[in-house]
Amino acid sequence: MEHETLTLGPRKRIALIAHDHKKQHLIEWAKYNRDALAQHTLLATGTTGKLMEQVLGIPVVKLQSGPLGGDQQIGAKIAEGEIDFVIFFWDPLEPQPHDPDVKALLRLAVVWNIPIACNRSSADFMFSSQLMNEPYQRILPDYQTYRERIISEVEPVAEAAASAQSE
Ligand code: PGA
Repeated sequence: MEHETLTLGPRKRIALIAHDHKKQHLIEWAKYNRDALAQHTLLATGTTGKLMEQVLGIPVVKLQSGPLGGDQQIGAKIAEGEIDFVIFFWDPLEPQPHDPDVKALLRLAVVWNIPIACNRSSADFMFSSQLMNEPYQRILPDYQTYRERIISEVEPVAEAAASAQSE
């Protein structure tokens, strides 16, 4: 089956996000992986990004804080093809005020076939992959059929134009 692919270079654009009770986990993980992280472009939600910069001493593009729209900004960047990898330590034991945004971000990562690590062991396994340091052909799901679907309730454009002319 033919697929469209996007070639990711060795330098990946990595989004980092951690909920408050998971920030210490991300800090420990990031410290351990500091030198490898420095080979990539890092983006993060506001508070996570500030902590990462302080701890790692490497620049991080800081978006809004998660509950203020940062998760949605990361989701939008995924849809625009501007993020290659997500590390998102979300908290399964704490309700979040921006729960719909969290769900939306997780969903968009799957929609666009973006690797996403949601806990430390996933991050370890994924980050130690050789693919992190070499070009990778990411398959882009083919949503053309979806885009061109016929909405049964809506009159097709040609027929609508013809009936407008005859009026
Ligand atoms: P923060 O946002 O990094 O600004 O704390 C994280 C989140 O809750 O999504």
